[in-house]
Amino acid sequence: MAKVHYNKKGSSGCPFSKNEEIKINIDDIGANGEGIGHIDGYTFFINGVVPGDYIRAKVIKANKNYGYAKLINIISPSEYRTEPVCKNADKCGGCTLQHLKYEKQLEYKESKVKNCLVRIGGIDRDYLDSIMQPVIGMDNPYNYRNKAQFPVGTGRNGEVLIGFFAGRTHNIINTSFCYIQSEISNHIIGIIREWIIKSRNKPYNELTGEGDIRHIIIRNGHTTGQVMVCLVVTHKNIRNTELLIEKLVNVSGMTGICLNINSEKTNRIMGTEIITLYGKNYIEDRIGDILFRISPLSFYQVNPVQTQKLYNTALDYAELTGKEIVWDMYCGIGTISLFVAGRAKAVLGVEIVPQAIEDAKKNAEINGIHNVTFICGAAEELAESICLDEEYSYLAKPDVIIVDPPRKGCDTKLLDTILKVNPERIVYVSCDPATLARDIKILTEGGYKIRKVRACDMFGMSGHVETVCLLSNSILR
Ligand code: SAH
Repeated sequence: MAKVHYNKKGSSGCPFSKNEEIKINIDDIGANGEGIGHIDGYTFFINGVVPGDYIRAKVIKANKNYGYAKLINIISPSEYRTEPVCKNADKCGGCTLQHLKYEKQLEYKESKVKNCLVRIGGIDRDYLDSIMQPVIGMDNPYNYRNKAQFPVGTGRNGEVLIGFFAGRTHNIINTSFCYIQSEISNHIIGIIREWIIKSRNKPYNELTGEGDIRHIIIRNGHTTGQVMVCLVVTHKNIRNTELLIEKLVNVSGMTGICLNINSEKTNRIMGTEIITLYGKNYIEDRIGDILFRISPLSFYQVNPVQTQKLYNTALDYAELTGKEIVWDMYCGIGTISLFVAGRAKAVLGVEIVPQAIEDAKKNAEINGIHNVTFICGAAEELAESICLDEEYSYLAKPDVIIVDPPRKGCDTKLLDTILKVNPERIVYVSCDPATLARDIKILTEGGYKIRKVRACDMFGMSGHVETVCLLSNSILR
């Protein structure tokens, strides 16, 4: 059957045409958790399928060497397949792996990290096999998120939609119950849905830029039980906020309700202005022994149980004895800086979001930690200038540099500075194995050697994976 397709090249040189039906074996998983299958070397990406599935599908887009197809039915299911708990699992862009058994999800994530480090990072596969530690899985891969972030929109019949975006689109999958969220978030979404309908505020329309309510963000402190609700809105004059407050204050743990104003026609979720409607404009949570205060605009890891395991791994890799100067680049609200401070001589935390640095300074204060300095600015700029600044001369020669950048990875200017500063160890915490591998290549070419690697699952049911790597100066060992 596959050979027929080879002779069927259309004018574009593509062996398949739109709407054509195919039968295909799924043999891999793509970067976003989608299934991958091949017919005579031609690659198809298909959502909702797992390796080992043999399926019938319809071609929806066919490029020269790869295409996308939609599942029609499963002819014979994979042994790794499991029934998704959520009825939206096939459509929702949040849980692309829900139909894959959890042990297989972990295996997939570990091999994703390994493959990136080999293919992009240029690390020898056998060497990697010898240094890679087993993936850190979750005891319960559901209800783990401490942050719900749902877009709000309008359906075809004028109904209010609140949910996740469907994969690769901005269509909202209306969700009344999301299995990876906390119970409290699901409960609050229900209250807000009713309020939006009653209050006559309009959901935002991305195309026209009209409407009032754009996003709902709910954060809950896993250890403190505190809850914060932040509505991202287009303007300050939201109707009937008293009714919303009245409904929400009865929710157990409600600590703060606020508006975030984002009037721009942009994909960026939040604006910079926060208006507090009720209570405090932050919540608190504890990781290990340290209490953290978290503002709506600050980054905070979404899986509190796994975060502690992730930070423990980073701390372990840093091999601190109490004498070291440590840099924590991309420090957010100072979580890693404060987590390692007790085992270091002095720590420098650098972060670009001013509110996060304010939180970080406050966090050092409330925990009585005095050996940490937080500076606001771009890591790539500050790393260089710190070395030349007399005021910070005590921090100029770090023994250990920890980096925990966003998905785009480290700026090359920062990597250059790290190589110049030449710390004994670098601990790289990453949420994207592809950019991690790209940066590791630069660091290994600059004289470092990768010593330990461990994947940690912070995002069960999704294709994302977190990784911690230890590099040390190859000349020193
Ligand atoms: N280490 C923290 C935060 C990691 S997320 C934690 O575990 O909680 C990455 C952080 O990098 C975010 O807080 C983001 O605001 C920050 N960031 C993004 N670009 C940056 C840059 N160029 N310089 C410094 N910080 C940056």
